[in-house]
Amino acid sequence: MSDTLDRWPEVLMNNYGTPPVELVSGEGTTVVDSEGRHHLDLLAGIAVNALGHAHPAITAAVTEQIQQLGHVSNLFASAPVVEAAGRLQELLGAGESTRVFFCNSGGEANEAAFKLARLTGRSRVLAAVDGFHGRTMGSLALTGQPDKRKPFEPLPTGVEFYPYGDLDYLTKMVETNPSDTAAIILEPIQGETGVIPAPEGFLTGVRKLCDTHGILMIVDEVQTGVGRTGDFFAHQHEGVTPDVVTMAKGLGGGLPIGATLATGKAAELFAPGAHGTTFGGNPVACAAANAVLKIVDEQFCADVAAKGWRFTAALNKLDAVAEVRGRGLMLGVVLNAPVAKEAVKLGFDHGLILNAPAADVIRLTPPLVITEDEIDTAVDRISTLLDELTQKA
Ligand code: PLP
Repeated sequence: MSDTLDRWPEVLMNNYGTPPVELVSGEGTTVVDSEGRHHLDLLAGIAVNALGHAHPAITAAVTEQIQQLGHVSNLFASAPVVEAAGRLQELLGAGESTRVFFCNSGGEANEAAFKLARLTGRSRVLAAVDGFHGRTMGSLALTGQPDKRKPFEPLPTGVEFYPYGDLDYLTKMVETNPSDTAAIILEPIQGETGVIPAPEGFLTGVRKLCDTHGILMIVDEVQTGVGRTGDFFAHQHEGVTPDVVTMAKGLGGGLPIGATLATGKAAELFAPGAHGTTFGGNPVACAAANAVLKIVDEQFCADVAAKGWRFTAALNKLDAVAEVRGRGLMLGVVLNAPVAKEAVKLGFDHGLILNAPAADVIRLTPPLVITEDEIDTAVDRISTLLDELTQKA
C-alpha cells in the first residue's frame, strides 16, 4: 500500500471512505497508479476530464493564465470570464438574453438555479424521483433520493417529487397549484442512479407544460453537458430550449468550475447582491474552460456520438450484458447479474477504471478523446473481466 493510501484515513474525513488506489499521473485516456500499473480510464473523474489527462491545450491555457493573473474576485472584470460566458451564450443558442453565473461545482450551479426559482415569487419546485443534483443543502433538497436526504433534514422546503419521465403525473401535479409552481428541474439522463435516459418526448412535454403555466424549465446538464452525449447539451437532442441550464464537470476539463445559464426573464432575476461566490469566474478555471470550449465543437460532438455507437454495439454482443443505456459517451452497461461492484474491483487487475452507480450497472464516462482502438481494447478487457466474474458466480 502507498504512503498516501496509508495516511488517507488518518487525515481525511470518512465521507468518501478510503479509495482503493492512488493515481499519480495520466495522459489522454490512460492513468498510472502508484504501483506503476497503467489503466484505461473509463470514468474520467466522473465525467470531468472531457479532453483526457494532461491535454496540452488545457496545460498551456492554465499555465499562461496563472503566470499572468490567478484570481481577481468578482469585484473586478477579467477577459477569460467574459470569453467563457460569451461562448456558453452562443452554445446554448437561446439568443443574446442568455446570462451566465459562474461558480465552482455542480451542486453550486443548482443552488443558483434553485435561488432563481425562488425569485420568481412562486415557491414550489418539482424535481424527479431518483434524480441527483448535488450535496449542498439546496441541491440536496432537489435530489430525489431519500437515503441521501434523510440524515440532513430539515432541508429547504417547497420541493415535491414526480416519477422521472412520467409527463401525465407531472402535468397533474402542476395542475394542483400552477400559479405557485416556480420550476421543474430534470436531468436529461439520470447519471447517478444508473444512467437512465428520459423517455423520448419527455423534455418537449415539460417545455410545453412550463410554457403553458409560466414555469421555469431547469435542465441539469452537470454530467450530460460539454459534448458528453454527442451534442454540446443533451437537451439539444430534443430541440428544446430550457430557461435555466446548470453545468460543471466537463466544463473545466479537470479544473473546478460550474455555471448556471439563464435565458429570457430568468436571466434578469439576479440583481446585484442577490447571489455570489468568491471563486466564481476564477480566470484560471475560465481559461481552462475556454480551452475545452474551443475544442468541443460540432465535429467533436459528432465524433463522440459515433464513438458511443461503436462502444454500445460491441458491448451489446457480450453474454453478460443485458442492455446498454445512455447516449454518446455516457453509457450504463446493464449486467445480467448484480456484479457491477465486483467488476469495478476486478477492473484494477485488468487495467480498467470503472464505476458502478447501481448493483447491476457499470457506468462508462471515458474522456471524450478516447480513440476507437482504446474503445476496442476496453471492450476486450471488460469482456474478459465479466467472463471471469460469471465463471466465479
Ligand atoms: N448534478 C448532476 C446531474 C450530477 O451528476 C452531479 C454530480 O455527480 C451534480 C449535480 C453535483 O455536482 P458536484 O459534485 O460538482 O457538486
